[in-house]
Amino acid sequence: MIKETEITCLPGQQEDEAALKAIAASALNIPPQTITAVQVLKRSIDARGRRVLYRMQVKVFVEEAYHPETYTQHYPNVRNGKPVLIVGAGPAGLFASLQCIELGLKPVIVERGKEVKQRRRDLANINKQGLVNPESNYCFGEGGAGTYSDGKLYTRSTKRGDVTRVLRTFVAHGASADILVDARPHIGTNKLPQIITAIRETILNAGGEILFDTRVTDLLVGFGKITGVQLASGEKMQANAVILATGHSARDVFEMLHRQNILIEAKPFALGVRIEHPQEIIDRAQYHCDLRGPDLPPSYYNLVEQVDGRGVFSFCMCPGGIIAPCATEANEIVVNGWSPSKRNNPFANSGTVVQVNLEDVAGDSADPFKMLNFQRRIEQLAFTAGGGKLVAPAQRMVDFVEGRLSIDLPENSYLPGTRSVELKEILPDWITNRLRHALPAFGKKMKGYYTNEAILVGVESRTSSPVKIPRDKETLQHPQVQGLFPCGEGAGYAGGIISAAIDGINCAIAAGKIS
Ligand SMILES: Cc1cc2nc3c(=O)[nH]c(=O)nc-3n(C[C@H](O)[C@H](O)[C@H](O)COP(=O)(O)OP(=O)(O)OC[C@H]3O[C@@H](n4cnc5c(N)ncnc54)[C@H](O)[C@@H]3O)c2cc1C
Repeated sequence: MIKETEITCLPGQQEDEAALKAIAASALNIPPQTITAVQVLKRSIDARGRRVLYRMQVKVFVEEAYHPETYTQHYPNVRNGKPVLIVGAGPAGLFASLQCIELGLKPVIVERGKEVKQRRRDLANINKQGLVNPESNYCFGEGGAGTYSDGKLYTRSTKRGDVTRVLRTFVAHGASADILVDARPHIGTNKLPQIITAIRETILNAGGEILFDTRVTDLLVGFGKITGVQLASGEKMQANAVILATGHSARDVFEMLHRQNILIEAKPFALGVRIEHPQEIIDRAQYHCDLRGPDLPPSYYNLVEQVDGRGVFSFCMCPGGIIAPCATEANEIVVNGWSPSKRNNPFANSGTVVQVNLEDVAGDSADPFKMLNFQRRIEQLAFTAGGGKLVAPAQRMVDFVEGRLSIDLPENSYLPGTRSVELKEILPDWITNRLRHALPAFGKKMKGYYTNEAILVGVESRTSSPVKIPRDKETLQHPQVQGLFPCGEGAGYAGGIISAAIDGINCAIAAGKIS
């Protein structure tokens, strides 16, 4: 007999088989020795009460054999399949490729950046020397912005596709099966590169092709239909289906589309700063303790406040994380965050941003580059204020709210270095004022949050794409170019790894219908 039930346990018991059997036996009112296994289906931390608990949905095997699941996936050989050209090897492009293979189509990926291993050297140059390679950085290269990201895998876009299927694919390529049960699944920057490498091997073994260091500079279009792409080398590649999954930072791709009279539109996004606290402060507030015990993971938060009719919210929170320099061009500063799988760094960071609507930014709303130019201007101001070499402008939290330059800055995780600057010099007043209102309000919701021990680092500006590439809702093709599938975060159809992967799958299915 197999029974499903909900149980709670203390931290430390969540992976202890004997303890779980005893708790399940008591919940079902049966002798523990009759239980052969307890399979966890869902697991979350409940820190609402004084005592922190794990809540779990479990399957209890009573006098029944339990065969743990295996997650291997089998892909057909598509060496001789019809080709689908995929531009960009981020989560959208990689999952589009896997889906093409499942449909018997041959994915041919064109990626401007390098393989994960070689990419590492360029990241070291960014962190140690403040030098950005515009073709290989935290956003460009194998795995896209997803490879050296935090690898948090929760998403709100459950209606767009099968989240579990994407998670299972990650597990089949080396991620821990914990991501299938945790309420807030996380992989970690240290583990993502191996998983991306395994996905590459799957694609190549099935007969797909991947071209690295290969940038698309033009789309080839004839009579309203895509016929292929042109590369930076001048070479042309033929295709009647092109999935364009180039991410939110490929500004040259938006320029290429505009130059070729292919419709793009300005899009709202969000902008602000990355805020870092000592992790201990967040743990004390969330777990109601002086010191987090070894059986609990570093805690997270999720904060939101409406100020003057506009949302101010925390975004991409990284417990035990590092603030990363994520610019893609020289002379700009962009920050984001990541954490290793163990989340064992002493700091907690999150983007804290204000929604930016089209009417907030001066200029003609018909100008597709209006929002992108605004984003770029702020990133360049941040670079100049930092003084170069990716040193980021920063300010202590209370100093920012009370309008004082910080005399000094707290120790922090941003490797290229920080410089004390009044952030109001970089951010527009309507963002500064909303942040100034929201931060003390966050402090009322979370004890200890509003403190001068916290640092604000500028600027968190690549929260989503500032440009949208339109597409038909049914066919997912660009309204002007048959066979062109705008895809993923850069086109405006995803925000994060899982939703980008799902959009890649959906675009591959749509491309399959015309191939
Ligand atoms: C530091 C950091 C941490 C993050 N943490 C998380 C997280 O924890 N959870 C989460 O869900 N999301 C996170 N994100 C966001 C997530 O990585 C993105 O949402 C996701 O990668 C978007 O996927 P995509 O495939 O649409 O685009 P991208 O990942 O941006 O991939 C686009 C690819 O296209 C390539 N490309 C661009 N132009 C061209 C061209 N002309 N020719 C050929 N190739 C081109 C690029 O090199 C790139 O590899 C993080 C991002 C960063 C930078």
